[in-house]
Amino acid sequence: MRILLIFLLFASPFFCVAQSAPIAMAIHGGAGFIDSTKLTPELRARYQAKLTEAVMRGYSVLKAGGSSLAAVEAAILILEDSPLFNAGRGAVVNAEGFCELDASIMDGRTRAAGAVAGVSTVKNPISLARLVKDSSSHVLLIGMGAEVFAKQMGASLVDRAYFLDKSEVGKKSGQLLEELHDSKFGTVGAVALDAQGNLAAGTSTGGMRNKKFGRVGDVPIIGAGTYAHNASAAISCTGHGEFFIRTVAAYEVAALMKYKGLSLKAATEEVIFTQLQPIGGSGGLIALDAQGNISMPFNSGSMFRASVDVQGKITVAIF
Ligand code: ASP
Repeated sequence: MRILLIFLLFASPFFCVAQSAPIAMAIHGGAGFIDSTKLTPELRARYQAKLTEAVMRGYSVLKAGGSSLAAVEAAILILEDSPLFNAGRGAVVNAEGFCELDASIMDGRTRAAGAVAGVSTVKNPISLARLVKDSSSHVLLIGMGAEVFAKQMGASLVDRAYFLDKSEVGKKSGQLLEELHDSKFGTVGAVALDAQGNLAAGTSTGGMRNKKFGRVGDVPIIGAGTYAHNASAAISCTGHGEFFIRTVAAYEVAALMKYKGLSLKAATEEVIFTQLQPIGGSGGLIALDAQGNISMPFNSGSMFRASVDVQGKITVAIF
């Protein structure tokens, strides 16, 4: 009996810690300039439902004790498979009329990262980025080399036409989506904090509509569109990629926190409003720190976003 009491006395703080370890999740579905009058109630409801489904999918991974990396991948898979967003199925086309997809994922615990750029037959670029991280000694694979690697790894491959298929949303909303994709950037991304205190971030995109064949944006560039480090934050960006590369936007958030001691909110707002905006960079980001604080600033007219905070409170917003 005495042994049992001593065990409980020593073990209970650990149980408490385990129970109260914060978990949190945030996602985005792209920043841009949506004319709210064009967003019909029906389409708005579709976006809200898909954002909710994605953030809850990631959150359920965290709730079940899964890793932040698994949560990020699970949430992004939902968004890549939906034609509503500019990633995976439904991505914008380049100037040659086909999709070239970019994605990246980063582990905040080890700072291991994987990314792919310019793939056009890989169904889920976020999963291929994770395979690059887990199953190669590289960080970034591009074009044909990335596709050969995808085949070797048994990743799901599709015909180029798959990405253009918007049949699910019907002709009328398909037309509206074309217009929405013109007025926004539409990348998707996720950041997560798991019960082990580990952060992760991931981003996936079709890039900018009508981009030059071979153009690569910020999304697969670690530190520009995606970054995660347990000591600072997990960040996923969306917007005009060239500006996010020039400002090394995602890493800049982490650096402002690390070297200047800024809070997550102050660091993210400084990057979006003080660094990007003056040079003409429009867009936004989602960020999460190891305490579970969430910040989602944007300097564009809108940013599809959703989060579940450490209290379990769900937020879904567009404007
Ligand atoms: N940042 C992406 C790119 O430039 C576009 C976006 O966020 O929608 O490729």
